[in-house]
Amino acid sequence: MSRPHILAVAKLVPLLLDQLHTAYVVHDRVHEASPEEFAKVASNIRAIVGGGESKVTRALMNQLLALELISIMGVGYAGVDVAAAVERDVPVTHTPGVLNDEVADLAIGLMLSIARRIPQADQYVRAGRWGKEGAMPLTRKVSGARLGIVGLGRIGQAIAKRAEAFGMSIAYTARSAKPDLTHTYYPTATALAEQVDFLIVITPGGAETRHLINAEVLAALGSKGYLINVARGSVVDEAALVEALKDGVIAGAALDVFEKEPHPSEALWTMDNVVLTPHIASATWQTRQAMADLAAGNLHAHFAGEKLLSPVPECN
Ligand code: NDP
Repeated sequence: MSRPHILAVAKLVPLLLDQLHTAYVVHDRVHEASPEEFAKVASNIRAIVGGGESKVTRALMNQLLALELISIMGVGYAGVDVAAAVERDVPVTHTPGVLNDEVADLAIGLMLSIARRIPQADQYVRAGRWGKEGAMPLTRKVSGARLGIVGLGRIGQAIAKRAEAFGMSIAYTARSAKPDLTHTYYPTATALAEQVDFLIVITPGGAETRHLINAEVLAALGSKGYLINVARGSVVDEAALVEALKDGVIAGAALDVFEKEPHPSEALWTMDNVVLTPHIASATWQTRQAMADLAAGNLHAHFAGEKLLSPVPECN
């Protein structure tokens, strides 16, 4: 049987791309590289494969008359026009669950890093300041502090589980309260921020959550509060955050995601009260392998006529 043609809309990791090449004819970002080549192959393309940041627009789908499936390697899929896909009866899949541990680990790591100033302490030693200036200034204790989680889904709950081991009190906000969980619910991010020392953001991106964390929430978090964002850059108003960090409205921030990646606000680069990582929350060999296998598994299941492994909720 001939191999189905698929369109990669992002630069896929070799962990995924190599396994796709064995089963499919992969057109790697041909829609961006060569409109002429794309026009020749578009009518053959039966699936799109992308990453968590990929844009899959209605206009792109309209050019792919044979499109049957969109498989995203990532749990977030805010860049996919799911409504347009559903209208066409094209299911969308993603890779939930397999990255919970990794993202939760990084969230805790960032919280410890900003509170205990671990990267700054490392720089202090490397710059020879310990010998010259003596001990570093004291930092903030994490164990036993009050944690607020914005978005208590799969990853938010994995963060809460870890925070419990640190003896932290846990409160959260989400679209709805979780009666099965004992953590305290607040209906808004502002009400939550008022009550906590650390605020970890882990919602999806997209229009619904855009700038959910704004100047008002930061003011509520207060001058002793820390913000940690492992969700999407769009969820935090980065300009408002820069101002809050400059003016001491909050104590500090640890950020894995930014409004314009890979170009975080330059004002952040020179600030002492931030820790910045380049969107690495799920970036380990083990987790990326699991994500790649699930993204490929959804394609294989579809073309074998089997049930999809992990469709997005809108396509369930
Ligand atoms: P889930 O769908 O399991 O959880 C999402 C949570 O966000 C839910 O609690 C949901 O509320 C809440 N939420 C959604 N919309 C809003 C809103 N408008 N206001 C308040 N809360 C809201 O997703 P996951 O935990 O699996 O993943 C969450 C996100 O983490 C992903 O979508 C992705 O954007 C991000 N992520 C980032 C990574 C990184 O590399 N930094 C890696 C992986 C994921 P409710 O429970 O009431 O529905």
